[in-house]
Amino acid sequence: NLQNRIDAELIKEAEILLNECAKISIIPHSGPDGDAIGSSLALHQYLIKKGKQAQIISPSAYPVFLKWLPGNSDVWIYTNGKKKAEEYINSSDLIFIVDHNSFKRSGDLEGVLEKATAKKIMIDHHPEPEQIVDLMFSDTQMCSTCEMMYEFIEALGDEDMIDESISECIYTGIITDTGGLSYNSSQPRTYQVVGSLLAKGIDKSKIHSNIYDNFSPDRMKLLGHCLDQGLEVLSEFNTAIITLTKEDLVRFNYRDGDTEGFVNYPLSIQGMLVSVIFIEKDDVVKISFRSKGDVPINRVARDYFKGGGHMNAAGGRTEKSLKDAIDQFKQVLPEFYKSL
Ligand code: 5GP
Ligand code: MN
Repeated sequence: NLQNRIDAELIKEAEILLNECAKISIIPHSGPDGDAIGSSLALHQYLIKKGKQAQIISPSAYPVFLKWLPGNSDVWIYTNGKKKAEEYINSSDLIFIVDHNSFKRSGDLEGVLEKATAKKIMIDHHPEPEQIVDLMFSDTQMCSTCEMMYEFIEALGDEDMIDESISECIYTGIITDTGGLSYNSSQPRTYQVVGSLLAKGIDKSKIHSNIYDNFSPDRMKLLGHCLDQGLEVLSEFNTAIITLTKEDLVRFNYRDGDTEGFVNYPLSIQGMLVSVIFIEKDDVVKISFRSKGDVPINRVARDYFKGGGHMNAAGGRTEKSLKDAIDQFKQVLPEFYKSL
């Protein structure tokens, strides 16, 4: 399928909403990743080109390896200036909900968005979208919201407005959501989109280097530590667990984003189908889940750890202690496998 995949009827409605509005808020999910920030920045630059007033308001901060992106300095972080952000949202006549599909994922902006009276458009690729918007672009077949953003702009007839800068943002989300086009990226159309982005003049090696060669020595040591001391392999369940304690984070001078990608490493152990990382934060244990093939690990995230996500990549949290969280996961695991 090499055609644009945006629904033609829906895009007509989007066109009407865009024509009618003047002031637009763009909201990525809380704890935004490359896809959330990339798609927000791409949309923002496109809307500015269209002559709109638009503002990205991120519910929370994001890691340094995303701060080189073009337009980054235009992003407001809600927690750094709540009043200004709320005023902007409440005086907007259109709100884009980007890379998430439930206000629960909007973090501290949940209540503000629930009450906001502006028309809302969702652009997202996660399963189980909630009916919280006027116009929903939701497609789990897309590898990333960034890929969808390309399709969205193209469907509006504006492919020629996608310049090098917008292309960099879109490419970033495509590679960060697919592990550099290694998983969740088997559709031919994705490569047609990537081809178009390359034709816009992006420097692929520079982008990869900005994202992946930007770590501190401490981050490298933290990774070494958790793969050495924190790894447990549950062979009978084809599952690996890695654990990071609060003390580990302090010892290796943890910065936002340092643990990004750690959870993927154990999947390269022969036979592993599931990898889980437990990270002990101040009052919560954050959990990331990854799986291979048709193992729906997002079910475990959703049913036991207040989270969700894609079949092969999900996240959640618990207020339990680190030990209790891991024990609970180990308890749930046999049942989960039986249910498949
Ligand atoms: P990560 O492990 O990288 O934080 O997240 C992996 C995937 O799971 C992402 O696509 C993200 O959107 C989703 N995800 C992470 N945390 C949550 C959560 O608390 N709730 C839901 N519904 N999805 C999550
Ligand atoms: Mn995404």
